[in-house]
Amino acid sequence: MTNIKQPTFEHGWINVIGPRGSVTFKGELLGETSSHQNQHFHPGADYARKGERCYACRWSEYKIFTVTELDTRTLVAFGSHYAGRYLVASFGQTIVPGEEIFRRLDATDSPAEVIELLTTRKFEQKPNITSAAARLLARVSDMDRDIQEAWDNRVVL
Ligand SMILES: [Zn+2]
Repeated sequence: MTNIKQPTFEHGWINVIGPRGSVTFKGELLGETSSHQNQHFHPGADYARKGERCYACRWSEYKIFTVTELDTRTLVAFGSHYAGRYLVASFGQTIVPGEEIFRRLDATDSPAEVIELLTTRKFEQKPNITSAAARLLARVSDMDRDIQEAWDNRVVL
Protein backbone atom coordinates (compact mmCIF):
# COMPACT_ATOMS: atom_id res chain seq x y z
CA MET A 1 0.00 0.00 0.00
CA THR A 2 1.38 3.32 -1.06
CA ASN A 3 0.32 6.50 0.62
CA ILE A 4 0.08 9.57 -1.57
CA LYS A 5 -0.21 12.62 0.59
CA GLN A 6 -2.36 15.49 -0.54
CA PRO A 7 -0.28 18.45 -1.66
CA THR A 8 0.50 20.60 1.32
CA PHE A 9 1.61 23.66 -0.67
CA GLU A 10 4.60 24.23 1.57
CA HIS A 11 5.44 27.75 0.52
CA GLY A 12 8.37 29.79 1.69
CA TRP A 13 11.73 28.49 2.90
CA ILE A 14 12.06 24.75 2.76
CA ASN A 15 14.88 22.67 4.19
CA VAL A 16 15.85 19.25 2.90
CA ILE A 17 18.70 17.09 4.16
CA GLY A 18 20.63 15.86 1.14
CA PRO A 19 23.57 13.45 0.91
CA ARG A 20 26.06 16.25 1.57
CA GLY A 21 24.08 18.22 4.16
CA SER A 22 21.29 20.69 4.57
CA VAL A 23 19.83 22.42 1.49
CA THR A 24 17.55 25.43 1.99
CA PHE A 25 15.50 27.08 -0.72
CA LYS A 26 12.42 29.12 -1.40
CA GLY A 27 9.86 27.12 -3.31
CA GLU A 28 6.94 24.78 -3.11
CA LEU A 29 6.39 21.10 -2.41
CA LEU A 30 4.54 19.85 -5.49
CA GLY A 31 4.00 16.39 -4.10
CA GLU A 32 5.39 13.54 -2.03
CA THR A 33 4.92 9.85 -1.61
CA SER A 34 5.95 7.32 0.99
CA SER A 35 5.79 3.54 1.22
CA HIS A 36 5.91 3.67 5.03
CA GLN A 37 3.59 1.38 6.96
CA ASN A 38 2.90 1.25 10.65
CA GLN A 39 2.83 -2.50 11.15
CA HIS A 40 6.00 -4.56 11.45
CA PHE A 41 6.30 -8.00 9.85
CA HIS A 42 9.03 -9.91 11.69
CA PRO A 43 7.64 -11.76 14.69
CA GLY A 44 10.16 -12.29 17.43
CA ALA A 45 12.57 -9.60 16.22
CA ASP A 46 12.62 -5.88 17.00
CA TYR A 47 13.75 -4.94 13.51
CA ALA A 48 13.78 -6.46 10.06
CA ARG A 49 16.90 -8.50 9.42
CA LYS A 50 19.12 -8.02 6.40
CA GLY A 51 17.15 -8.64 3.19
CA GLU A 52 13.87 -8.91 5.11
CA ARG A 53 11.09 -6.67 3.84
CA CYS A 54 9.23 -4.56 6.39
CA TYR A 55 7.85 -1.17 5.40
CA ALA A 56 7.72 -0.08 9.03
CA CYS A 57 11.50 -0.60 9.26
CA ARG A 58 12.63 0.45 5.78
CA TRP A 59 10.67 2.49 3.28
CA SER A 60 11.13 4.91 0.40
CA GLU A 61 10.06 8.52 0.09
CA TYR A 62 10.01 10.74 -2.96
CA LYS A 63 9.42 14.49 -3.00
CA ILE A 64 9.23 16.92 -5.90
CA PHE A 65 9.77 20.62 -5.24
CA THR A 66 9.84 23.70 -7.38
CA VAL A 67 12.67 26.07 -6.51
CA THR A 68 12.60 29.83 -6.96
CA GLU A 69 15.58 30.83 -4.83
CA LEU A 70 18.46 29.12 -3.05
CA ASP A 71 19.44 30.21 0.43
CA THR A 72 22.80 32.01 0.67
CA ARG A 73 24.27 29.35 2.98
CA THR A 74 23.27 26.67 0.48
CA LEU A 75 24.94 28.63 -2.33
CA VAL A 76 28.09 29.08 -0.24
CA ALA A 77 28.16 25.38 0.63
CA PHE A 78 27.28 23.87 -2.75
CA GLY A 79 27.71 26.59 -5.39
CA SER A 80 25.18 26.14 -8.15
CA HIS A 81 24.94 22.35 -7.59
CA TYR A 82 21.30 22.63 -6.50
CA ALA A 83 20.32 25.44 -8.89
CA GLY A 84 17.37 24.42 -11.02
CA ARG A 85 13.66 24.80 -11.47
CA TYR A 86 12.88 21.46 -9.81
CA LEU A 87 14.41 19.55 -6.95
CA VAL A 88 13.75 15.82 -6.69
CA ALA A 89 14.44 14.11 -3.36
CA SER A 90 14.60 10.34 -2.93
CA PHE A 91 15.10 8.82 0.49
CA GLY A 92 15.63 5.24 1.55
CA GLN A 93 14.48 5.55 5.12
CA THR A 94 15.43 3.11 7.85
CA ILE A 95 14.95 2.81 11.59
CA VAL A 96 17.09 -0.33 11.82
CA PRO A 97 20.04 0.30 14.18
CA GLY A 98 23.33 0.50 12.32
CA GLU A 99 21.72 1.34 8.98
CA GLU A 100 21.99 4.75 7.36
CA ILE A 101 19.27 6.68 5.57
CA PHE A 102 19.95 6.79 1.83
CA ARG A 103 19.53 10.34 0.51
CA ARG A 104 19.53 11.55 -3.04
CA LEU A 105 18.84 15.11 -4.10
CA ASP A 106 18.94 16.30 -7.70
CA ALA A 107 18.20 19.67 -9.25
CA THR A 108 17.07 20.07 -12.83
CA ASP A 109 15.42 22.61 -15.11
CA SER A 110 13.93 19.85 -17.22
CA PRO A 111 10.49 18.34 -16.51
CA ALA A 112 11.53 15.26 -18.52
CA GLU A 113 14.52 14.83 -16.24
CA VAL A 114 12.23 14.94 -13.20
CA ILE A 115 10.65 11.77 -14.60
CA GLU A 116 14.06 10.31 -15.42
CA LEU A 117 15.20 10.92 -11.84
CA LEU A 118 12.27 8.81 -10.62
CA THR A 119 13.01 6.04 -13.11
CA THR A 120 14.94 3.00 -11.95
CA ARG A 121 17.53 1.59 -14.33
CA LYS A 122 19.06 -1.68 -13.36
CA PHE A 123 21.76 -3.37 -15.40
CA GLU A 124 20.30 -5.43 -18.24
CA GLN A 125 16.73 -4.71 -17.16
CA LYS A 126 14.04 -2.53 -18.68
CA PRO A 127 13.76 0.94 -17.13
CA ASN A 128 11.05 0.97 -14.52
CA ILE A 129 8.96 3.56 -12.74
CA THR A 130 7.66 2.22 -9.44
CA SER A 131 3.92 2.54 -8.87
CA ALA A 132 4.64 4.99 -6.04
CA ALA A 133 6.70 7.22 -8.34
CA ALA A 134 4.12 6.92 -11.14
CA ARG A 135 1.30 7.97 -8.85
CA LEU A 136 3.37 10.87 -7.55
CA LEU A 137 4.12 12.04 -11.11
CA ALA A 138 0.47 11.74 -12.10
CA ARG A 139 -0.52 13.79 -9.06
CA VAL A 140 2.15 16.41 -9.66
CA SER A 141 1.05 16.63 -13.31
CA ASP A 142 -2.16 18.17 -12.08
CA MET A 143 -0.16 21.02 -10.58
CA ASP A 144 2.61 21.59 -13.09
CA ARG A 145 1.73 21.81 -16.77
CA ASP A 146 5.29 21.17 -17.99
CA ILE A 147 5.62 17.99 -15.92
CA GLN A 148 2.21 16.97 -17.22
CA GLU A 149 3.39 17.36 -20.79
CA ALA A 150 6.58 15.40 -20.12
CA TRP A 151 4.63 12.69 -18.28
CA ASP A 152 2.08 12.36 -21.10
CA ASN A 153 4.94 12.04 -23.63
CA ARG A 154 7.15 9.74 -21.58
CA VAL A 155 8.97 6.89 -23.26
CA VAL A 156 8.99 4.50 -20.30
CA LEU A 157 5.52 3.22 -19.44
ZN1 LIG B 1 9.83 -3.77 11.00
